[in-house]
Amino acid sequence: MLKFKNINGLFIILGLALLLCNTFITVPIYVFIALFFCWFIITSIGSFNITWNYHLEAFNSKKNHKEKQIAITFDDGPNSDFTPKILDLLKKHNAKATFFCIGKQIKNHPEIIKQISAAGHSIGNHTYSHAQMFDFYGKQKVIDEINKTDALISSILNKKMNLFRPPYGVTNRAITKALKQTRHHVIGWNIRSLDTVKTDEKAILDRIIKNITPGSVILLHDSKEITVRVLEQLLLFLQENDYQAITVDALFNIEAYA
Ligand SMILES: [Zn+2]
Repeated sequence: MLKFKNINGLFIILGLALLLCNTFITVPIYVFIALFFCWFIITSIGSFNITWNYHLEAFNSKKNHKEKQIAITFDDGPNSDFTPKILDLLKKHNAKATFFCIGKQIKNHPEIIKQISAAGHSIGNHTYSHAQMFDFYGKQKVIDEINKTDALISSILNKKMNLFRPPYGVTNRAITKALKQTRHHVIGWNIRSLDTVKTDEKAILDRIIKNITPGSVILLHDSKEITVRVLEQLLLFLQENDYQAITVDALFNIEAYA
């Protein structure tokens, strides 16, 4: 499996070998550039794909899970327009889910946080700002974002969150080092619905359904209207096919709160 440390080690050895060759024969500069380019491409793809576990080990799906259970996850809330509708649908279908909430949204909607928790769903940390530049933050700034969001949930629910999902599913060295210190479980996914990108409800639903197997983790967003309509259809599909939607912590048998 491709891991950041292994890839780094390999490319350092290759670079040194080329430098050694260069003392005997002239190695063209483009060979060094090509080597760096390969490292950059592999590291970029690994950083953008949480399922690769390139920088850190994330819970992306439960492989060889025997029971027909899956985990639905919602990012970027709580949202006053859509999260309550999602909670109603989940209740109607007796389904449990996990909400990865953004700190500044939590601050605006503490009452929705209480509703999510009271309904038996789990809540995870999705940073305070969800800034577009988050992936360029250093270790301490990442820790501050995580701690600030944890503190908000603690003040509302008197619970310390154990689950974390990085914005955009991007991981890097700073995030990895920060999480080593905060000790959150990192939750990824294996089914990306693309509900923030696609505008065709059926296309989103089909994309999810064709990939569902026991132990799947589905990524949705409670910040989009289309997601409410997709969820309604998805819950019907799950019911018709005897699938049970449970929280990620129940699926992976880990603790959502400390
Ligand atoms: Zn997000």
